[in-house]
Amino acid sequence: MNKETTQAVKKLLENPRKIVIVAHKNPDGDAIGSSLGLCFFLKKMGHDCQVIMPNDFPDFLKWMPGVDEILVFEKDLEKAKQSITDANLIFTLDFNSLDRVGDLQPLLENSEADFVMIDHHQQPATYAVATYSDVSVSSTAEMVYHFINALGEAEKITEPIATNLYSGILTDTGSFRFPATLPTTHRVIAALMEKGADNAVIYQNIYDTFTPDRMKLLGLALNNLTILEEYNTAYITLTQKELDEHNFKKGDTEGFVNYALMIKGIVFAVIFIENKQENIVKISFRSKGRFSVNDFSRSHYNGGGHINAAGGKSSQSLSNTVTEFISILPRYKQELSNA
Ligand code: 5GP
Ligand code: MN
Repeated sequence: MNKETTQAVKKLLENPRKIVIVAHKNPDGDAIGSSLGLCFFLKKMGHDCQVIMPNDFPDFLKWMPGVDEILVFEKDLEKAKQSITDANLIFTLDFNSLDRVGDLQPLLENSEADFVMIDHHQQPATYAVATYSDVSVSSTAEMVYHFINALGEAEKITEPIATNLYSGILTDTGSFRFPATLPTTHRVIAALMEKGADNAVIYQNIYDTFTPDRMKLLGLALNNLTILEEYNTAYITLTQKELDEHNFKKGDTEGFVNYALMIKGIVFAVIFIENKQENIVKISFRSKGRFSVNDFSRSHYNGGGHINAAGGKSSQSLSNTVTEFISILPRYKQELSNA
């Protein structure tokens, strides 16, 4: 975090504030971990702090320290509204524009609070009075560590803070394998372990938690995989019926798309998941090398994210979405063969 932003944040935190922390819709490990880690820290600094998520999140994140105190806007509507009304400082974490918070968007847009953004996505919006945006950092959780450090308060990092930040970094780096995992990331991880984060326990809590149904759904997803060799591309589809037959719960398909990238030569992996309730097909994109799925998703699927991991959606049927996707690929043939 640069000097100017550090000074601005120090000023904002000079006196006790009523703070709300918000992360993006469909919160992942980084959204939850960075928010809870920051909230514990701000409380230690003497502020009032409340984490609000736009909607519910997967069970495999529900063990994280402090998770029971999160308000989920969809469920705790009135309490969440009240917190936002009362807040005079709002931290927005792990997203780059206010259209990423679902139904919370109008409340945030109408709030008179000061905003601070901490985020590592491309194309950050400019609504905050202090913006700490860096697309080269592995995760927002790692940025929260740098944030605390820049304030000169690293000694305030307790075990629950360390565990939350470790979890955010672990999940957003794909267990430290994505290119954004830098030497600095590992230094931060080392520091968090010294503060009490238990790597083996955290890994088990997040990843070794499949239900038999979820494992069978993974088998089905792999069976539904189609390889388009000409484009070094592989995609997976899951229909609402297939999800229903496996008692689908939020988060069950997390990580499935990565299996398509494990095929030798594949540089572009996609999963299309039918969501009848929202009447959309939710799409996750992953890539290797220089092929930017952020650009691809922004251009065609009203989405975005990072160079190698992005999401988007389609309002067409699942089969039309796939047909259209295949029709777009020839335009990217060159890029996909040189990625
Ligand atoms: P996932 O595919 O795991 O849902 O998301 C991958 C990355 O893309 C994450 O950083 C996530 O925040 C971002 N992302 C997912 N869906 C969307 C979307 O609809 N719009 C934008 N702008 N980013 C998304
Ligand atoms: Mn993130």
